[in-house]
Amino acid sequence: TRYFTITDYPTGTPERELFKLREEALAELAEGEVRVRNAWLSVDPYMRGRMSGVKTYIDPFELNAPLQGAAVGEVIESRDSRFAVGDKVRHMGGWRDIAQLSADQVEALPSIEVPDQAYLGVLGMPGMTAWTGLNIIAEMKEGDNVLVSAASGAVGSLAVQLAKAKGGTVVGIAGSQEKLDWLEARGVKAVSYKGKNAEQLTAELHDACPDGFDVYYENVGGDCLVAALNNLRVGARIAVCGMISRYNDTQPVEGPANLAMILVRRARMQGFIVFEHWDNYARFLEEVGPLVAKGEIEYEETVEEGLEQTPDAFLKLFTGANKGKMLVRL
Ligand code: NDP
Repeated sequence: TRYFTITDYPTGTPERELFKLREEALAELAEGEVRVRNAWLSVDPYMRGRMSGVKTYIDPFELNAPLQGAAVGEVIESRDSRFAVGDKVRHMGGWRDIAQLSADQVEALPSIEVPDQAYLGVLGMPGMTAWTGLNIIAEMKEGDNVLVSAASGAVGSLAVQLAKAKGGTVVGIAGSQEKLDWLEARGVKAVSYKGKNAEQLTAELHDACPDGFDVYYENVGGDCLVAALNNLRVGARIAVCGMISRYNDTQPVEGPANLAMILVRRARMQGFIVFEHWDNYARFLEEVGPLVAKGEIEYEETVEEGLEQTPDAFLKLFTGANKGKMLVRL
């Protein structure tokens, strides 16, 4: 197997040289194990947290060991009765070409007719995150005005479409003209954050939705959060999904100076980790799966080719080079 590892925990934005490609012969398959040829690897912003060497809600990556991440592939050898050669599966043995895992850590792909890699994106963890944040955490109601940051990404692009389906005004924050156009074409009012301070962003969000927001789906932090807080309606709910603008910080930064807007607007702000809501996954698939299969919910992918590109694909998440789900095809 060829796999990526790191030999040190980085501070700040990781350098490409941090990631080392290694090759190793796999042991013979043990009873209860399967061997999978990966076809698609997922890279996700949360992986940066696992590179910090600190236990958060999840253990840090082990140095010199294969990195982990979601992957989809085909079983090429099995010593477990639940899986046969040729089965399409999903598992966490990503960042490598061939994964050898306990069959307990492997699941068959669901049967909804979508391309396999959709189970890493719109019908996988990011999609489930969008659905959970909006419905379970922010308790979005019919007609709510909804603001989403990183709105054209894997999570954000589903969040805006789900919000649009039952919302009032939906506004998305994104970083490039192409992304803004994609949002506008789906009836989402798009606001760019690039080159703007919190005051300017506050004014633009107000112009886009003068009545203010009932829900803020937070993916970014920093000035986006400040501007969102300034535009909350009374009783607003903020689902804190991520704060990607902070993940490469080298020093603690001060929180938003206008946090008191939570009080003024009697708002609620709640963080969540999607894995703790996984018992809802079947419900999510039932609700969103058919809409994706019918093309009523759309999704974008940015695909990098070849295992060697995995670190680059990951690093591009922090420059916004991805539109929709960032994937690596092997
Ligand atoms: P995306 O597909 O949205 O990719 C990341 C995007 O973030 C980039 O394309 C870029 O878009 C934007 N971005 C990057 N750096 C900055 C910055 N400094 N300021 C503003 N925007 C930035 O990733 P995901 O959809 O996978 O993840 C989105 C968020 O959801 C992340 O914060 C992630 O950590 C979080 N998450 C949380 C989970 C949970 O369980 N709580 C589970 C999964 C994801 P642009 O060009 O618009 O700037």
